[in-house]
Amino acid sequence: MKLSKTLSARLDDPRLFRQYAYVNGKWTHGEGGREEAVFDPATGEAIGHIPWLEAHQIREAVDAAEAAFVHWRALRADERCERLLAWYDLLQANREDLATIMTLEQGKPLPDARGEVEYGASFVRWFAEEGKRTFGETIPSHIPNAALGTLKEPVGIAALITPWNFPLAMITRKAAAAMAAGCPVIVKPAGETPFSALALAELAERAGIPAGIFNVVLGDAPEVSKLLCAEERIKALSFTGSTRVGRLLIDQSAGTVKRLSMELGGNAPFIVGPDMDPKEAAFAAVAAKFQTAGQDCLAANRILVHESIHDEFVEHFVERMAALTVGNGLESEIDLGPLIHRQAVDKAAAIVDDAISRGATLVAGDQGQAPGPNFFMPVLLTGVTREMQVWREENFAPVAGVTAYSDDDQVIEMANDTEYGLAAYVYTHDIRRIWKMLRALEFGMVSVNSVKMTGPPVPFGGVKQSGLGREGGITGIDEYLETKYYCLGGLGSVSGS
Ligand code: NAP
Repeated sequence: MKLSKTLSARLDDPRLFRQYAYVNGKWTHGEGGREEAVFDPATGEAIGHIPWLEAHQIREAVDAAEAAFVHWRALRADERCERLLAWYDLLQANREDLATIMTLEQGKPLPDARGEVEYGASFVRWFAEEGKRTFGETIPSHIPNAALGTLKEPVGIAALITPWNFPLAMITRKAAAAMAAGCPVIVKPAGETPFSALALAELAERAGIPAGIFNVVLGDAPEVSKLLCAEERIKALSFTGSTRVGRLLIDQSAGTVKRLSMELGGNAPFIVGPDMDPKEAAFAAVAAKFQTAGQDCLAANRILVHESIHDEFVEHFVERMAALTVGNGLESEIDLGPLIHRQAVDKAAAIVDDAISRGATLVAGDQGQAPGPNFFMPVLLTGVTREMQVWREENFAPVAGVTAYSDDDQVIEMANDTEYGLAAYVYTHDIRRIWKMLRALEFGMVSVNSVKMTGPPVPFGGVKQSGLGREGGITGIDEYLETKYYCLGGLGSVSGS
């Protein structure tokens, strides 16, 4: 077995670090011989290599999933639940190693990585249990002597394509739902962060998940995705990533009419009402903006502050931002790790330059302090206006932009002025303002006076160009279930007449 000394030496269990794809319960190398290096974004060093599979190997994954589906769907829901709970237990037991792998490939600080393992595992437990509650319905019959109802059945093989910013939780939030519903999955993780997905595969195997149910394929993303979309035997496609790629996948899936679930980009407004304590709101905004170094679909991208408290808010924001530490996520007391790669740093710099050239003020953010080429120091811009990229685009970097507004109607219109509709934050204690905003904001999720909003019981998802469907909650499993209607005729009447 080929193991990277640096990464595996850091793990209690080096077998969690795998440099192969995982197909039909086997560690698989690419038959074409092509390998890609995976880098630690903090140091730029290669931490391992992954194979790129050939087209016929992707089809073998589909063959394996098809064969495994027969037995997996036939298990009782409580039997699938037991296997998933065993997987959950192993995720928890190996939390430290999983977090180390994640920090090395993604860059986020270790405490955040531990938090993501916990968060990712919580979906496995949630859906393990939800699988036992996929109830059908009894329908009062309008047809004489007939019984009508519905059965819930697994949709079939699900392809799951996931991003690098949450390399573990974006997989479990989909895979656990699909597997609990009775579906096998084929995961295509982001090329930057494959090792978390492969560690999940190792633990799935140890948990007794049968071969062919949890597969991880690796390769050229456009090629692999095209194959998965064109494959008729794959019935569902669940994607988390950019709106640009989401649109491509929707297009490519049209020929096979797949069940689609799309968790796409966000451009969250963070609205601060005139009644708020500016310090409390500023500290919350810093937390909502800089988590995962701003590489978060829920990041507070457009901070909209009532003009009456704008200046005080900015002062407190700068004070809190100045306390953030930037560095290698393996070190202690780090708040922001690196960005995922150099292009992300260049994009962030271009967004800041664009804003300044259009009249924004750079209040804080000295890139001369950055501890390495992939790091970007937190930036605060004020005077942000709608024509700036920082307003229009998801910047996916620690770049905060503040805009002053004068009344509720104006700020609602401003907040909705985006093609995205994932999440919005509202900070105010005025109940009428809260209710008005809750109703008027065109977002799938609105969080009032709380930075934290996600978790297993929550229907996570967006409207507009932020996606289709919901993950988590009591409806998340429906993305992987078909409703089969039945009519049992010729039954005679209940009274026997
Ligand atoms: P991305 O570029 O869209 O990539 C996501 C996945 O798609 C990766 O597995 C990637 O593979 C693959 N991919 C890339 N180009 C492709 C193509 N042309 N055809 C088919 N597949 C392709 O997104 P990202 O940069 O990884 O993630 C950031 C985005 O995800 C942001 O927009 C963020 O808002 C969004 N996101 C949304 C949610 C949500 O729940 N709504 C959660 C997290 C992130 P390779 O890496 O191998 O290229």
